Amino acid sequence: MAMLLKGADAAKALTEKLHEEAEALKARGVEPCLAILRVGAREDDLSYERGALKRCEKVGISVRQVVLPEDVGQQELLDNIRSLNEDESVHGVLMFRPLPKHLDDEAARAALDPKKDMDGITDGSLAAVYAGTNGGYPPCTAAACAALLKHYNIPIKGKRVVVIGRSLVIGKPVSMLLLAEHATVTICHSRSENLPTICREADILVVAAGKAGMVGAESVRAGQVVLDVGIHVGADGNLCGDTRFAEVEPVVEAITPVPGGVGAVTTAILASHVIEAAKRS
Ligand code: NAP
Repeated sequence: MAMLLKGADAAKALTEKLHEEAEALKARGVEPCLAILRVGAREDDLSYERGALKRCEKVGISVRQVVLPEDVGQQELLDNIRSLNEDESVHGVLMFRPLPKHLDDEAARAALDPKKDMDGITDGSLAAVYAGTNGGYPPCTAAACAALLKHYNIPIKGKRVVVIGRSLVIGKPVSMLLLAEHATVTICHSRSENLPTICREADILVVAAGKAGMVGAESVRAGQVVLDVGIHVGADGNLCGDTRFAEVEPVVEAITPVPGGVGAVTTAILASHVIEAAKRS
């Protein structure tokens, strides 16, 4: 039976550490503050917002919610972003995307100050991730993968990592983060040939394809660690990931459950970015 890499355990440990850091900041007169910028009321955004609010409360981060109507104009959105950039009491901004179709996503991302970009959505923030400098913040879910491995003391250095997915949100940044930890990284995508063979070569397999149950027993072997980033509502109404858990779990050494795996660490990483931004301020 595989070891379950439970996100809640990693998130709890990180939250406790962050709480102490928040207290230390407050003692110095710095009140860590996150602004959440939401347009409309998409259920995904609301659900993430509830998680973020709870996490920030536990850590001791104050949250300013900025909610704009679904039909907000481009200029009003940009004005709000710029005013959060300029507000010195706000250390970080979480802007939910995708934005409604009438809004220019690229212009909105470009307007956000990378120093306040808590979820790696700006080019400046991503550039820092790729350059390996401290100038920005990686997307929270990608960073959650690395944090989960570290929490469970899973060696990364020198290991063969295979990532399925090359999105800017998960696949590419998680590859860069694990490369920075000295892994040997292979990035796969929808055009990759012989995917199961490549996957079986991995010591650590990160699955972020956004395809429910696409990875099964044919793609894994004994001794592997599998991080399943996918999250879907299955035919039975329950949440499931990109792996066929019942097939994969008996074979591998360790695996993240869905739900309760990578996703459970994401808001703790968000909080860690806010604390870091408050320290840098
Ligand atoms: P995405 O933008 O749709 O990217 C999916 C990637 O997977 C693409 O690079 C695609 O390749 C690749 N892919 C798709 N089908 C494939 C196949 N059959 N074989 C190999 N590669 C394949 O998705 P994303 O935003 O990265 O998200 C991935 C998953 O993570 C989704 O299920 C999403 O819901 C989940 N997610 C979870 C969290 C969390 O907190 N747990 C947060 C965000 C997202 P191409 O580039 O060639 O198209």
